[in-house]
Amino acid sequence: SKPLEGKVSVVTGAASGIGLATAKRLVKDGSIVFIADLHEDALAKAVSEIGSNAIPIVADVSKVSDIKKLFETVKDSPKGGRVDVLFANAGIAAAAPIGSISEELYDRIFSVNAKGVLFTVQEALPLLGKGSSVILTSSIDNFKGLPGYSLYGATKAAVRSFARTWTADLTKSRGIRVNVVSPGPIVTPMFEAGAGEVKAKIIASQVPIGRNGRPEEIANVVAFLASDASSFIAGAEIQADGGLAQI
Ligand code: NAD
Repeated sequence: SKPLEGKVSVVTGAASGIGLATAKRLVKDGSIVFIADLHEDALAKAVSEIGSNAIPIVADVSKVSDIKKLFETVKDSPKGGRVDVLFANAGIAAAAPIGSISEELYDRIFSVNAKGVLFTVQEALPLLGKGSSVILTSSIDNFKGLPGYSLYGATKAAVRSFARTWTADLTKSRGIRVNVVSPGPIVTPMFEAGAGEVKAKIIASQVPIGRNGRPEEIANVVAFLASDASSFIAGAEIQADGGLAQI
């Protein structure tokens, strides 16, 4: 049987890139997947690619009221009622050297990447139970200094820290595993918008594996962390970066 047969999953930032590839993979592995993102049209397109086991929900994770509605919908859905796998993945990036970070940018990035993840997990708590797997998307930037990414990196360091402390808070008491995937350069709309074609090639040449990653290669990691194959892994970070963090 499939590794996630009969499971209920929630993926945020699921209309594009890593979230979309992961939603596809979790459905392929047998799960029902509630896919959350900002825009109805992008979600409809995602459903048309994934199929009817993907259920779209419009939600902005920077707004706690939206997150509450998201999990009310999951709770009340005949296909939901609980959450076995939660992939808190929605995030935004912006390169900004220290001298050019505005207060507005600071608030916006923290409110999606850090606040969004914290309240996504908080609002999911009543629906999570023993054996549930929570996976958070951090980034290589959480521990490696990349020029211009101090603000983004700080939000992703917060995400890494959440998983550590939530392991203390949730794993022993409730049997919920919380783990982190930290992607390196992955070719998604976010990456292409930030890097451009020339810079993307330069980055690829620096990666020990010799190329940038594909969203499916992060989906593989999330599918592993979602499944019982990772049943003894809690509070861990998996770096999926072609070795870039090591050089
Ligand atoms: P992407 O832009 O292709 O997809 C992100 C999705 O999140 C989009 O569909 C977007 O609409 C959605 N989103 C943004 N803000 C949201 C909000 N407030 N509420 C709900 N949805 C929201 O980007 P991606 O590359 O797939 O990134 C996914 C995650 O991976 C992000 O957290 C990103 O920081 C992280 N990441 C990406 C890379 C990379 O190289 N692509 C590397 C490291 C980490």
